[in-house]
Amino acid sequence: MRQTARLGRIAGIPIGVHWSVFVIMLLLVQGLASVVLPSGARGHATVVYWGVAVVVAALFLAALLAHELAHALVARHYGVRVRAITLWMLGGVSELDGEAPHPRADLLIALAGPVVSLAGAGVFAACAAAASASGAGPLAVTGLAWLAVVNVILGGFNLLPGAPLDGGRVLAAILWWVRRDRASARRTAGRAGMVLGALLIIGGLVEMLLAANLSGLWLTVLGWFVLLAARAETTDVTLRKTLAGVRVGDIMTAPAAYGYTSQSVANFVATVARHHPHRVFPVLDLDGQLVGLVSLTRLAKVPSTDRERTRLGDVTAPVDRTRVLDPAVPLTDAAPAMLAGGHRLAPVVANGRLTGIVTPGDVARATELAELGITPDRGGGDADTSGTTRW
Ligand SMILES: [Zn+2]
Repeated sequence: MRQTARLGRIAGIPIGVHWSVFVIMLLLVQGLASVVLPSGARGHATVVYWGVAVVVAALFLAALLAHELAHALVARHYGVRVRAITLWMLGGVSELDGEAPHPRADLLIALAGPVVSLAGAGVFAACAAAASASGAGPLAVTGLAWLAVVNVILGGFNLLPGAPLDGGRVLAAILWWVRRDRASARRTAGRAGMVLGALLIIGGLVEMLLAANLSGLWLTVLGWFVLLAARAETTDVTLRKTLAGVRVGDIMTAPAAYGYTSQSVANFVATVARHHPHRVFPVLDLDGQLVGLVSLTRLAKVPSTDRERTRLGDVTAPVDRTRVLDPAVPLTDAAPAMLAGGHRLAPVVANGRLTGIVTPGDVARATELAELGITPDRGGGDADTSGTTRW
């Protein structure tokens, strides 16, 4: 989650907000000032409603932050580093580096947030009762009661048992403790999250149809985010488990088919591109350094009459350094970006030399072999390189 604005540090943890928070705050202040507060306390000037609405919305944001801080501080207590806390449209995100050392730590980190939200709800409810008893105006009582209700919803909703919600993490921690297998516990919690996301989407759609208003839209959007995050989580866990110990060098296609910048497009197509099953090829300069990548679609844009005199270097796209892989890197670090980013090819470079390429097909093959219980080895029989470098 990219932080749009930094709010500062609390206990050494950088706190920031995503731009979507400003949108939500505007909607919240508007709803409080024009609906919630006037219906609870009649007869105040408009400016008073807006002033109180801003204070109540700010307290809501503080309660959200307290929820995330609780996760972060318990995580840190168990030796898990906290990179940052970011507040966004659907709540907060604590970015943790590393994993909880044991199921009990995992459980307490997950529970800390909802516990703080529910305790906060109790505090706001007590304040509302005290304000009412001491004869404070209905405006203050309405604002405090609203904060109590919202914190109950925040704590309660987050306890629904599906990852990535806190309840899903609680479920995963308990299953980890029972099964003594963290990966399988995470997968189950992820699947529960997908079911939960689907139910939220259906609930939101039904609400939109029956109530004929847009309040169900919120639930639908929320369900969609839960579904996507849960799916990403199960994929990641499966990939990490099946591919543990496999390195990029184990699954890459090597040696790679490539071209030279000084080569003509016509020659490259005739001697390399047509003989290999790839859609993207690395391009080297005469010193053997990787310059960039060229795709078949890019080559097709060169008119056939110009292919003799167009150099490959003229149509090569510079290589994005983040896409270049080291053969010693664990595949689990490289594969998610490879699969999710839609990258069609990643060059593998060791000691400044192109040693191979990894395609989504290589990753898929390695995953399927790993599921069969076979450790992937290099390229198999299809790494025929005759004609790749000579012309
Ligand atoms: Zn939480």
